[in-house]
Amino acid sequence: MSYKKEEVKCPQCGKKIRIKVHTKFDESQIADIVDRSIFAAKCSKCGKITYIDYLVDLETPNYYLYYTPGYNKSKKNIKGKITRVCDTYDDFKEKILIFEEGLNDILIEFIKTYIKNELKGEDLTNLRDIRFDSIIDDNIIFALVGLKKNVAIKRDFYNALDEKSIYKKPLRAMVIDRDTFWKYHKMK
Ligand SMILES: [Zn+2]
Repeated sequence: MSYKKEEVKCPQCGKKIRIKVHTKFDESQIADIVDRSIFAAKCSKCGKITYIDYLVDLETPNYYLYYTPGYNKSKKNIKGKITRVCDTYDDFKEKILIFEEGLNDILIEFIKTYIKNELKGEDLTNLRDIRFDSIIDDNIIFALVGLKKNVAIKRDFYNALDEKSIYKKPLRAMVIDRDTFWKYHKMK
């Protein structure tokens, strides 16, 4: 795990903080990515915690993620692995959670549109996003970000949709989100 040390200024007091900037993560670092601690730097003077986002790849046996905050450019696919570009921290974290559960992120995006339709009639003014959260028993849990609510989707429902789905593999690694997933998904 290679990294270089860089210095950033504390946004609160201006003191220089040294941070480790990695070029590549592996699966041993997943917990620290998901709780964001790997991107955190604590100022030794005022104690303020700053999150530093930088370009870094994550390679696991099954998938490869390019974390490119703010760039959103396509990248080359890595042979034999699901390969995606993530241009925000929330996307990066969500893809890890999805792939660690062995779920299909394209289908997860499709189900989010289904959830949104099911919510019609409710006040969605504060709904900022829908994110995959976790699996509990036979349920796939989605967080309604901004509403402080969760929605549970039955695993059987997911499996039935999966059987009826045709997926198209992106020619290059892309951001797969609510705006792009439909290019790679259709129903039989
Ligand atoms: Zn400080």
